[in-house]
Amino acid sequence: MTTYFNYPSPALQDELRQIANAIVAPGKGILAADESVGTMGKRLANIGLENNEENRRKYRQLLFTADKAVAQHISAVILFHETLYQKADNGTPFVELLKQTGIIPGIKVDTGVVPLFGSEDECTTQGLDDLGKRCIQYKKDGCQFAKWRCVLKINKNTPSYQAILENANVLARYASICQASGLVPIVEPEILIDGDHDIERCQKVTETVLAAVYKALNDHHVYLEGTLLKPNMVTQGQSHSKKCSPQEIAAATVTALSRTVPAAVPGITFLSGGQSEEEASVNLDAINKYQGKKPWALSFSYGRALQASVLRAWGGKDANVAAGQAELLKRAKVNGEAALGKYIGGAQGQAGDQCLFVKNHAY
Ligand code: 13P
Repeated sequence: MTTYFNYPSPALQDELRQIANAIVAPGKGILAADESVGTMGKRLANIGLENNEENRRKYRQLLFTADKAVAQHISAVILFHETLYQKADNGTPFVELLKQTGIIPGIKVDTGVVPLFGSEDECTTQGLDDLGKRCIQYKKDGCQFAKWRCVLKINKNTPSYQAILENANVLARYASICQASGLVPIVEPEILIDGDHDIERCQKVTETVLAAVYKALNDHHVYLEGTLLKPNMVTQGQSHSKKCSPQEIAAATVTALSRTVPAAVPGITFLSGGQSEEEASVNLDAINKYQGKKPWALSFSYGRALQASVLRAWGGKDANVAAGQAELLKRAKVNGEAALGKYIGGAQGQAGDQCLFVKNHAY
């Protein structure tokens, strides 16, 4: 076994570490606004809008022109390729708008999920082939970090060894390619909430998956101080009979993370994964209140749980843009408080406790 290794240069390490630390500054988290064209279509359909480029631009414009106070709680936004090159009505590129507000732009770089042949409906994620070239271009165009999502499923026989190994390795290759061009990789091995399993099973699966991910990152000499992890919280399955309390979720989540995520990792930014807005905030708050070893920042990188109320308040009408922006500020503030363990609860938006579960949210 060779022990040859080559970490990024000291200057590149400094750059990556500073970006990662800025994203998880105390009380701040990430707005995941990187829905693909297909996923955005479903969100727009819910409010009766056609899925065309202009409607997608108008919606993202609403998000990025919200009150500057949003930046007190949102450190970074994940964009989709199309959005990175769109402009506001006044001609300002979105990426410039974000920078002017003090928000760090990032980009989703995976090209989507495909089935793993021979597996029980499991999958891997594509996009490595031209990733190096794309990362160099994205960095030139103002992005400071990237995201790549892998999906794992809990069933009687899954996740399989095949899926765990393949997804860990592809995440490590992605992370290493990102760091080479100065982008902080957000490593996202999402274990879907689908299933009737209990929280103990989710905890064990999360530990097994994360252990494999960090072994692969180590094998690929990924500089952990310049990465972030975006995991699921540890919860019972969506159709399990008993609903766990936020305190039970916090204990299982922090325990799983403390067993598997090195202290060198600066931050863990959870996905919301189908939890309601209120659940996502209350659970993040409980995680931060939980008394245990927590050497990393514990914050959010929410998509649905930051946007459901916004979409509902906007409803696709120009007259409601300010109402949508007010909902975004409210969700941002609440989750910023939760990231500090200071959310008192009850600050529900228009989507409140509405379930945001999407069955088999792999593709
Ligand atoms: P949700 O918070 O809606 O799960 O989305 C986060 C995300 O970016 C998934 O990749």
